[in-house]
Amino acid sequence: MDQYYFFVVLAPTAAFITIAAAIYAWRRRLVPGAVMLMLDLLCITGWLLSNTGELIGSTENISLSSVKITYLFITTAPIFWIGFALQYTGKVRWLSFSRFAFFWVFPIITFTLVQTNEWHGMIWDVWKIEAVNDHLQLLKVTLYGPWFWVNVVYSYALMFSGAFLLIQQHIRSAPIYRKQSNWLVAGALAPLIFNYIYITKLIPGLQKDFSPIAFAFSGIAFAIGIFRYDLLDLMPIARNTIVENMQEGMLVIDHKTRLLDINPAARKLLLPTKDSIIGKPIEKYLPEIKPLLPKDDQGSRALEFSLRRNRIIRNFEGKLSILRDRNKKRLGYLLVLQDITERKKLHDEVERLASKDSLTGLHNRRHLLELAQQELHRSYRYKHTISLLVIDIDHFKNINDTYGHLVGDQVLINFANFLQKMLRIVDIIGRFGGDEFVVILPETDFETTIKTANRLCDTIRKTPFATKKGNVFFTLSIGISSENDVKKDTDLYAFLEHADRALYHAKSLGRDQVASEK
Ligand code: GH3
Ligand code: MG
Repeated sequence: MDQYYFFVVLAPTAAFITIAAAIYAWRRRLVPGAVMLMLDLLCITGWLLSNTGELIGSTENISLSSVKITYLFITTAPIFWIGFALQYTGKVRWLSFSRFAFFWVFPIITFTLVQTNEWHGMIWDVWKIEAVNDHLQLLKVTLYGPWFWVNVVYSYALMFSGAFLLIQQHIRSAPIYRKQSNWLVAGALAPLIFNYIYITKLIPGLQKDFSPIAFAFSGIAFAIGIFRYDLLDLMPIARNTIVENMQEGMLVIDHKTRLLDINPAARKLLLPTKDSIIGKPIEKYLPEIKPLLPKDDQGSRALEFSLRRNRIIRNFEGKLSILRDRNKKRLGYLLVLQDITERKKLHDEVERLASKDSLTGLHNRRHLLELAQQELHRSYRYKHTISLLVIDIDHFKNINDTYGHLVGDQVLINFANFLQKMLRIVDIIGRFGGDEFVVILPETDFETTIKTANRLCDTIRKTPFATKKGNVFFTLSIGISSENDVKKDTDLYAFLEHADRALYHAKSLGRDQVASEK
């Protein structure tokens, strides 16, 4: 098959592939450079088809018109080519609208001169449409006009620049990006190599210019390069999107405790300043964080800390991970944190409510038992004596019956205040239920406990409790339990039981007195 027939078969086939690649590029248009590549591929498709049109044209006019249409694509393809190279290599900022518009000045002049060549011969001076075999013909130019060369120089300048950018990127890129940029370099070099072969007549007998095929190859190689490996492009974009938009704060700190990265959420939470803080030592802006960075080599850990800013304390909860290189050498730290101030407040409030008696504000039964257990452990540890009072108001039912339930409540509240006033700050006072109160007296021996209990009984007997219905008097019965040899397995409930039994003893002896089981 002669080279012209070969071209007529090859070019539409290539056009089929380039149009498919252009559609694909459009669908992946978020990848940097994809839109420019799509336009480049469309130009190449047009070039392939109009070049074929020139060859198969049935009249001279059809062939000449095809050539003239070809120039629409020949002149614009290099612009999208350089556009692609600039976008792909991240030089989009350089590609301002005015610069991009300027690229079009030469192509517009060239295209206009091509369409009007018959009047001035600026593109083709001596030319004719000539048959190359039995069926095909093309434009044969013996002498080119001056502007033809201007366009050649301009197009090559753009192509060389684009190729330069892509090759430079290839050399600079990290090894994982190399596979991708191999395709881009192949795409950048293909038309240049082909043109070199064609101009220097390296292949004997090659008459037909196969440039559009070389460009088609180039466009397809670009598409393979950027789409087949675009996961690598997408990964940093995805990472950035997540980090920038996540509600948690994120800080990256290097091994010299300098701040390397901070996302907007962390800035808002920790550092609402406008200062540029990247690269600065963390202790300068966040001295509270430095002591949290682990000195040992453990993995990630959860942590909690609080920061005071403008006299407001905020609480944070975070996770700290150590960042390492491939050889496990420590490079720095990643801290992901969130503000838990409100949550903590709520938690504390729930905790408080769950541990307090709602009427008197004293510890409730559950919490009192917890505290008593802790005290018992402490006494075992430090070999202290520990004592316990179970206090019950005598004939409290009568107060309720005489003055009403509300006054009864008032008496209970006042009695709780009375106990707090009368006892030491270290004594743990709780309401066990109804009119029964329990007091734990840490580090207190039996004799002191008896004295304390009697003091309570004596004082209460003489104390009028003011209520809405006048002064109310009442007496107390108190049971005591005291332990000066707390064992590891001393049972809190047995200890309480002791005091309870003593209390009933006091009641049975006529009330208004203290009793003990000892
Ligand atoms: P005793 O000397 O034997 O202790 O006689 P008492 O009347 O105090 O009898 P007991 O301790 O068994 O009864 C406690 C009473 O306290 C029964 C109950 O109606 C009342 N009471 C329990 N809780 C409350 C409360 O929250 N408010 C009021 N006003 N009364 C309560
Ligand atoms: Mg009672």
